[in-house]
Amino acid sequence: MSRPNQARLDLAALRHNADLVRELAPNANMMAVVKANAYGHGAVTLARELQSRADAMAVACLEEALELRESGISAPILLLEGVFEPDELGIAAQQGIWVTVDNAVQLEWLEQARLPAPVQCWLKVDTGMHRLGAEASQVAGFFQRLVDCPNGRGTPVLSTHFASADEVDRDTTTRQLALFERLTGDFGALRSAANSPGVLAWPASHYDWVRPGYMLWGNSPFGTVPQANAARLQPVMTLCSAVISVRDVAAGECVGYGGSWCAGRPSRIATVTIGYGDGYPRTATNGTPVLVNGQRAPLAGRVSMDMITVDVTDLDNVRIGDPVILWGRGLPVAEVAEPAGTIGYELLTRMPARTPRVVVTP
Ligand SMILES: *Cc1c(COP(=O)(O)O)cnc(C)c1O
Repeated sequence: MSRPNQARLDLAALRHNADLVRELAPNANMMAVVKANAYGHGAVTLARELQSRADAMAVACLEEALELRESGISAPILLLEGVFEPDELGIAAQQGIWVTVDNAVQLEWLEQARLPAPVQCWLKVDTGMHRLGAEASQVAGFFQRLVDCPNGRGTPVLSTHFASADEVDRDTTTRQLALFERLTGDFGALRSAANSPGVLAWPASHYDWVRPGYMLWGNSPFGTVPQANAARLQPVMTLCSAVISVRDVAAGECVGYGGSWCAGRPSRIATVTIGYGDGYPRTATNGTPVLVNGQRAPLAGRVSMDMITVDVTDLDNVRIGDPVILWGRGLPVAEVAEPAGTIGYELLTRMPARTPRVVVTP
């Protein structure tokens, strides 16, 4: 028998989540953001499944785009940060890859390039994130230069990105939208602003292209804060393992490295063969929920490289071989991320190659 760890992928859930994007933003095109190996799930597997539903894909760099092209993905693919070197533009042009232009240097590279074909450009506008994008005073000039540039194909799409769309009580997003409107309203160009929280909670941000990533994988960008639309998502990844040892420990005995959890009563400890080497966060604290036989039990003791220990005193009949779910179906990843001091985005994205991704669509 081999190690039972699997990141199980439910492609029916993926289709459901993509359909929810369509339902919430019926008038927008959908760009599925599959950067970083589709947030750790496996970009090729998920992009193939999304091809019939998404109008385009988006990635962080040319290498990620070419991986998709080589596996037969024919949809347009946008480079969200544009190119890092002018030489990339020729490959993008050849391969039907779209480029973001977000500063004067990228614009000059485009103007000076000799390309086999024009490329579709997205002009990114900085409305408050202050990470990428043309400044307010540059937008009209950059837009006109792109329109005039023979290397640009058609009218550039105008885009921006939200800093805090996952915090629905703050007015940051409203202010970003107002500025986006003021800076881009007069050009008659297609526009794009919404990431997952934008799709779910900010209908005014939908415009012509929505750009969901995280919600497609069925997790709420609002973390553990309830949100009505996010409650309809279905997790694509369920991280599974199994119990490999069960023992009773006396009150006062401590468990694991550093003895950071000590039994306050006679306790039963189940050891599960998954650890930080398999993508489970070492920073998860005592009490983090784990599903053993479908029932919640608290993490007890420090996460090891290959194992965790769980307090199953209150569960009946836990045995070696019993199934364990670390997150996914029945346990939102945010409930693990929060006590680990991070967000579900990070837990999914940094899932190591050691944990096999297995398509298991119920
Ligand atoms: C990553 C990214 C997205 C997707 O964000 P989610 O919160 O995962 O939906 C959208 N737009 C840009 C520019 C991004 O970098």
